[in-house]
Amino acid sequence: MPAQLIDGKAVAALVRAEVSERVRRLVARGRAPGLTVVLAGDDPASATYVRNKEKAARECGIRGETLRFPADVDAATLEAALDRLNADPEVDGILVQLPLPPGISAEDARRLQRRIAPEKDVDGFLPQSQGLLMLGEPGFVPCTPAGCMRLLAHAGISPRGRHAVVIGRSNIVGKPMAQLLLAADATVTICHSRTPDLPAVVRGADIVVAAVGRPELVRGDWLKPGAVVLDVGINRTPEGKLVGDVCFSEACEVAAAVTPVPGGVGPMTIACLLENVCVAAERRLGIA
Ligand code: NAD
Repeated sequence: MPAQLIDGKAVAALVRAEVSERVRRLVARGRAPGLTVVLAGDDPASATYVRNKEKAARECGIRGETLRFPADVDAATLEAALDRLNADPEVDGILVQLPLPPGISAEDARRLQRRIAPEKDVDGFLPQSQGLLMLGEPGFVPCTPAGCMRLLAHAGISPRGRHAVVIGRSNIVGKPMAQLLLAADATVTICHSRTPDLPAVVRGADIVVAAVGRPELVRGDWLKPGAVVLDVGINRTPEGKLVGDVCFSEACEVAAAVTPVPGGVGPMTIACLLENVCVAAERRLGIA
């Protein structure tokens, strides 16, 4: 039987409708929540991501603003801008769009990202946010893994007692994803580029999360029949087609449920970012 398609666009629309409702309640109490994105340089992909975030924020009634800086901006200027945003009571959420321009050293980039006030860290990338997640305490959860958990919940799939295999150990997807699954009572294995015999590990999984960045790495014969597959990967083929980290057509033949690319995990990321902005605003008012 072909797999159930987990429709990220539809679930993201539901999350955004919930966000719009929360924004209405916040407006009734004083003001709309505010999200400010710091964008430096002229990377076209970053410009598109930021435009999409601004548009999505506006559609939910969130005040979305982007501070744009030229590619030759220095770290001190960005630091000063972040300090102003941290102190601005109209700004609930701040994010620094990555990558920063090549003129900013890796060390400065790390320092700048950590300059964001923890209560405004709506990306959930700060050590404080990641630490709280690991401790199982309320904080900001990184948006893509949060989106994956929402997709599972919406599809009626509980991770409890299941074996979940997360492929990829990045700080923004793989590691927080594993923490969330663990918190939801899954038995979790994290795989990465040095994992021997990846197909054998994946074959033992009831839930597979692929966050690698390798087009169609995970094949149908790697999957246990009836597995649930969440494909985080976004890859462009030489022909210009967008594909995930999982061979979708093969997965559909074996899995019980699978997310498509595009239209699966992708739309959830921005929706969960908007949700985090609401959480930040509600916490400021002491109502979350
Ligand atoms: P990353 O490059 O930071 O991490 C990739 C991980 O994959 C690493 O931990 C690495 O060890 C592992 N890896 C690499 N090759 C491997 C292999 N052959 N076998 C097993 N593991 C291997 O990437 P990331 O930021 O976590 O992103 C992963 C993918 O998800 C990318 O395609 C990215 O574009 C996509 N992504 C999508 C969204 C979304 O909104 N849908 C958000 C973030 C990232």
